[in-house]
Amino acid sequence: EAALGTEEVFLQYQPMIDLSTGKIKGFEALMRWIHGEKGFISPDVFIPLLEDNGMIVKASSWALEEALMALKRIEGKAGYDKELFMSVNFSSRDFAADGFVEGVYDTISKSEVDAEQVHLEITERLLMGQPENAKETLSECQKSGMGISIDDFGTGYSSLSYLHYFPINILKIDRSFVMEMLSKDSSMELVKSMIGLGKNLKMKIIAEGVETIEEAQKLRDLGCDMAQGYYFARPMKEEDVIEFIKENRQIDF
Ligand code: C2E
Ligand code: CA
Ligand code: CA
Repeated sequence: EAALGTEEVFLQYQPMIDLSTGKIKGFEALMRWIHGEKGFISPDVFIPLLEDNGMIVKASSWALEEALMALKRIEGKAGYDKELFMSVNFSSRDFAADGFVEGVYDTISKSEVDAEQVHLEITERLLMGQPENAKETLSECQKSGMGISIDDFGTGYSSLSYLHYFPINILKIDRSFVMEMLSKDSSMELVKSMIGLGKNLKMKIIAEGVETIEEAQKLRDLGCDMAQGYYFARPMKEEDVIEFIKENRQIDF
């Protein structure tokens, strides 16, 4: 807990690129923990630990505040004015906690970014676990202007009917499909279906884990809106994000 915001626990930011223009649209905030003795610990390991012991709620609210303040600084230094978004990951525990929405509102007003610049990333699993609470929480957030993204889309085992029950703006196609789309016909078909589905429901589609130019080009041709992945940029520290933006106003591929 004491480690939040120190050299041990910090955030990195990974750009999301508009596939039709090559411009940076926003970032996903990703938590990092470099343990004093053990060194780098993967979020796939420590996030579930924080979820189990309840500390995730503190960690998430810290991450939201830090990420929005970083967005403000990044925009200032890179010469943008309320044009970029920041996407922050939340877990079931966060949604179940008292005062979640109020906390998010407070943080947004303190950081002086617009609600429209804030995207909440959640998984299907979270929605299924607490459907009524999530619906109400997300509706309030969406009404105030925030974007709602479904993370790891396609990996849940639920029926698709939830897509019109919950207020959702963005589908993030899971990396496992993108990774195989050029070598496996069935993955390609699934990617196409997800893009088509999202478009029909008037949602934006982001492809995760784009590692090659071929994947980026194919996704663009299929009408995917945005992409995120090592081909464009790895998650970076704030200073590096500012440099990256200055050097990559537009990315050709
Ligand atoms: P995620 O939300 O699906 O985040 C995307 C993960 O894919 C990140 O892993 C990112 O570094 C990685 N990635 C991005 N582009 C590529 C690529 O081109 N190739 C490959 N192989 N990987 C790519 P990371 O940072 O290790 O995070 C793992 C997971 O931990 C995240 O998956 C998310 O579920 C969770 N997580 C990270 N930060 C937070 C946080 O602040 N709060 C919560 N609740 N969960 C977090
Ligand atoms: Ca995510
Ligand atoms: Ca994901």
